[in-house]
Amino acid sequence: MHIRLILLVAAVIAGLGAAVLRLTRKKLENKVCAHCGAPAMHGYSKAAESAPEHIVPLCVPCLLERLDEDYCTYDRHAVVIQPVAELPCYVFRPKSDWDEQLRAELDTLLAGLQNHCSSCTNPARYLWVNALEAGPVAKLPKMGITHTLLATSGARPISLCARCSVQRIARSFAGQEAGYVEVCGPRGGEDGLVTAIGY
Ligand SMILES: [Zn+2]
Ligand SMILES: [Zn+2]
Repeated sequence: MHIRLILLVAAVIAGLGAAVLRLTRKKLENKVCAHCGAPAMHGYSKAAESAPEHIVPLCVPCLLERLDEDYCTYDRHAVVIQPVAELPCYVFRPKSDWDEQLRAELDTLLAGLQNHCSSCTNPARYLWVNALEAGPVAKLPKMGITHTLLATSGARPISLCARCSVQRIARSFAGQEAGYVEVCGPRGGEDGLVTAIGY
């Protein structure tokens, strides 16, 4: 009788343990890189505000590979704001997605794009703007880039090629603990802006 009770309790504990394990595994399975199976860090999509089923979980190296492809393939020009961790998305949006004031500002800034990358000799296609805090980045859609990130003395955009832009994005990602819900690279036939944003 005593032994049977012990066996019963042991069986119940084992059953519970297996159930918990299954639950945990399932949870982890949802966050596995769709490309290589490593733990996923960020969601990747082809366009900003994609439906959840079109956002693919990727680990950092696999995400950077996709972004490298996106940034190298895109043949227009874009302003790229350094990714800040506090906002949930880091996406490209074409110029027509922004209001008139920001569209005009993108034209002005991109007119100052140098021919060659400031880090290497490749043709420059991106204008990199440093961002260390989320505050100015969150205000940027309303206030513009010049009156937020470029307002401090000495702050000026840097002309970069595709590869060097993705390298800088990679360096910024490396210091971040949390992932973005959605990341997408530049795409389409229009100039645009890449920035961290909360919808
Ligand atoms: Zn991966
Ligand atoms: Zn370069």
